[in-house]
Amino acid sequence: MYLTDDEIIAILLKEKKRKRRRRRVLRRLTCLAVFILILILGIGLFINRGVLDTPFNGRGVIFIDPGHGGVDGGSTALGRKEKDDTLALSLVVKEELEEMGFKVYMSRTDDSDVDRAERGKMANNKHAKLMISIHRNQDDKSEGEGVEIWIPSDNNKESRLLGENIIAELEKQGFYNRGVRSGTLVNSKDDYYENSVPTMPSCIVETGFVSKASDNKLFDSKLKENGKAIAKAIEKTFASLYETEE
Ligand SMILES: [Zn+2]
Repeated sequence: MYLTDDEIIAILLKEKKRKRRRRRVLRRLTCLAVFILILILGIGLFINRGVLDTPFNGRGVIFIDPGHGGVDGGSTALGRKEKDDTLALSLVVKEELEEMGFKVYMSRTDDSDVDRAERGKMANNKHAKLMISIHRNQDDKSEGEGVEIWIPSDNNKESRLLGENIIAELEKQGFYNRGVRSGTLVNSKDDYYENSVPTMPSCIVETGFVSKASDNKLFDSKLKENGKAIAKAIEKTFASLYETEE
């Protein structure tokens, strides 16, 4: 069978058209696939951000700040560094709070450098409901002992409640109660960074003296109990500030 030139041209044209149509369909499918992929990624990112930035996860967000870290060892006495103690205790507090249903963020979870002024900003960024800075005290004469808590200079009642609850629980563990104080050691109208930057109730817990052997013994032998005590006080404060019915 022979085909005329016109017939051959017609067949070729039809073939060309079919190819073009197929290419067009393929292009559309690719566009659709890319669109769906972007949509899925977008939704994923949205959900992910939602989870990361949600102010409440279970009962709420608590910010724990283990004092010092990295090159800043904090107080040193009797062969120990404050930065190690603050991290060890903070990790217990975190674990206990998480068991109670809180979302816990920390300024550091290892021996890293974190700027002091940044710690409060981190708590603000995480929408924390309470910020607790864990420290230890020092007295070169080795006379000072016990727990001391610092709250903002405005002496706001929420921070005071937090401080009073924590010191009461630590007193039960055997620490001498040095009281909850507002401002700083040198100026009652001034604030430590840890209390001036956060927008939520906050306090600095000076958990005994590194320079006092009996405080260190209490700190080490009851590390878990002390962490539990602080977490219990935080929970109690959170409940009365945020979970009571109007
Ligand atoms: Zn300190």
